[in-house]
Amino acid sequence: MMQILVKIFRLLLTGIIGLFFLYVTAIIPSSLASGATPVVSDIRVGHNKNETRFVLEINQNIEFNIFTLSNPNRVVIDITEVTWKDDFGGAKGLGYIDSYRFGLFKPGTSRIVLDVNNPVKIDKAFIIKPKKNTPYRFVIDLKKISISTFETSVKKSKPSPVRSANDNVPEKNLREQRTKKLIVLDPGHGGHDPGNLGGKEYRGYPEKTVVLSAAQTIKKELEKSGRYEVVMTRNTDIFLKLRNRSRIAHNKQADLFISIHADSFKSPDIRGATVYTLSEKASDKEADAMAARENKSDIIAGMDLDEEIDIVQSILIDLVKRETMNLSSSFANELIPQLQRVVLLRKRPHRTAGLIVLKGLDVPSVLVELGYLTNDMDAKLLMQKETQVQIGKSIVRAADNFFNKSYVAN
Ligand SMILES: [Zn+2]
Repeated sequence: MMQILVKIFRLLLTGIIGLFFLYVTAIIPSSLASGATPVVSDIRVGHNKNETRFVLEINQNIEFNIFTLSNPNRVVIDITEVTWKDDFGGAKGLGYIDSYRFGLFKPGTSRIVLDVNNPVKIDKAFIIKPKKNTPYRFVIDLKKISISTFETSVKKSKPSPVRSANDNVPEKNLREQRTKKLIVLDPGHGGHDPGNLGGKEYRGYPEKTVVLSAAQTIKKELEKSGRYEVVMTRNTDIFLKLRNRSRIAHNKQADLFISIHADSFKSPDIRGATVYTLSEKASDKEADAMAARENKSDIIAGMDLDEEIDIVQSILIDLVKRETMNLSSSFANELIPQLQRVVLLRKRPHRTAGLIVLKGLDVPSVLVELGYLTNDMDAKLLMQKETQVQIGKSIVRAADNFFNKSYVAN
């Protein structure tokens, strides 16, 4: 079943052109670029006294990253995208491993999750080069540790590269290589998708135009601080699918993703900014309706891939989700008091909704509705350079606080 889904997923991916294609090819590891996808021919689990060994047999060298998660305790192994030869006896565990799961995590990356029955540490992880009759072997040794040690290591280890057997493989941990934090700004909509429209007076300034202008100003403020590098998902009036926006942040291993929007409402009196974070269930009816409006962007494109991608990813995506959601809320909590100093906020300024643009993203992320285009005062202010600069400064202060506090991993 999994393999069929993976195939469907690949077929769909090959159909996508343009920007997205560029990003996908940029992360394809050299082993894939040269042709064949590595094949995992066997998985073995062994236990001996106080150590559990997990072994993959594979026909090519691979890269790997390993990290641990608590509650429930898990070991997550990301490797170069591979093909799985079979289900390996139902993926049953032994010793400290109860069971394990595997699948495609993102294009270019496969993931194995070990469900462990004890707090463990990765004692060793290495690749044994092939000998006459044996293929490459990727070996992970797990040792039991105390809960407190485990939880400290969970905080520290997420997700840092362990080691690669091939020195020629480029270093993949982009976060550690950077001297500045990388923020991806995502001006909503664009091209044939105008987003929300303003009231009578501001009809000529649809959401896509207002948020691009605001994002460009925010970018300048962030860069001016000297502490942030900024990548925009779009810099012109082009259409981008929702999933491709978050993929930019994922591929660049951004430290923060901020999607910038402006809302609309049937009553022109409603005004104020709202900060949204992702959740399965919307915090209220209004948030639900807003998510429906924002998510509509992809349906307009006439090709809704997100459903299919979700099926493949949902098995594994829950792992990163919890931590990312917590960090996203922390950022929202930093952003709201800063925004409040420069713009009017809605009564409950932090809301949650099932926003596709934030789904499955392993980067702390928020979607900010800067105000209501259907309210003339909000529309006027949002188009003013001075308001945009003030919003930019408030985002700089919020990001400073967010990155300076201990709840940020690394
Ligand atoms: Zn929008």
